[in-house]
Amino acid sequence: MNQEIKIIRSAGEMRAWALAQKGAGKTIGFVPTMGALHEGHISLMQAAASGSDCPVASIFVNPTQFAPTEDFDAYPRTFERDLEMSREAGITLIYAPTASGMYPADYSTYVTVEQVSEGLCSLTRPHFFRGVATVVTKLFNAVLPDKAYFGQKDAQQCAVIKRMVRDLDMGIEIIEMPTVREPDGLAMSSRNRYLSEADRVRALCLSRALFEAEERMRGGERCAARIVAGVCAGMAEVEIDYIALVDAETMALVDEIEGPVLLAVAAKVGAARLIDNIKFTPNP
Ligand code: AMP
Repeated sequence: MNQEIKIIRSAGEMRAWALAQKGAGKTIGFVPTMGALHEGHISLMQAAASGSDCPVASIFVNPTQFAPTEDFDAYPRTFERDLEMSREAGITLIYAPTASGMYPADYSTYVTVEQVSEGLCSLTRPHFFRGVATVVTKLFNAVLPDKAYFGQKDAQQCAVIKRMVRDLDMGIEIIEMPTVREPDGLAMSSRNRYLSEADRVRALCLSRALFEAEERMRGGERCAARIVAGVCAGMAEVEIDYIALVDAETMALVDEIEGPVLLAVAAKVGAARLIDNIKFTPNP
């Protein structure tokens, strides 16, 4: 694929372009990202490229989803490389708005999604989902997608976006794509580049503990307390933020597995806060 990639920086121009495509009967597939792209992002982009006429991605490190103490300034920014990777994945347009364009000094409007936003990542990042829901709404309003692609790696984020799209009648199909992993199991993440060599080895305990739990669930274990205790033992070498077994759609804690569940973990490993999860559906 050798076509040039188009870059748009303002919401007005983005929306005018999107309206023109829709007027010509074309569908828009959209992948929101914060850049520092890896194979996880690429899998979403390839799905958008094969599933829509106009595959669009955004690159925007969104300040409203970072607390002042978090890594907004340190977050990796690799724009030129991201453009090349996006183009190779079949994306034809990058929407890369500026922070001042997105959030003028008197910016005042936020989107809050209740229930599914509670627990898990909200426990240590209470600001996070309000920032995500707000920026995704703004990106949707500019890009006007028919379909939008998100990764299961950020499963609670996916649940929040699905609920928001349903509750606010946004009429966008949300497609959740599987987590892409390194060959040894570590979930790909832009933050993996914060890991030292020793931390990179320790980080493996997240996926390993989740896969072991998955085996136990496949073997018939249904008790949340026992499953969580097993994962906790498997993650002894990192600083655990949370381990939770929740309903896969509502994110409510479950005691006993009766339907589809999400087993999600977050931990601090050296300089990086990492998250990972698996989903499990018991046989009827
Ligand atoms: P981010 O740039 O971290 O905001 O992520 C942008 C999108 O890529 C989100 O929908 C993420 O869930 C998704 N994503 C991030 N890492 C992975 C991964 N390892 N596998 C699949 N999707 C991912």
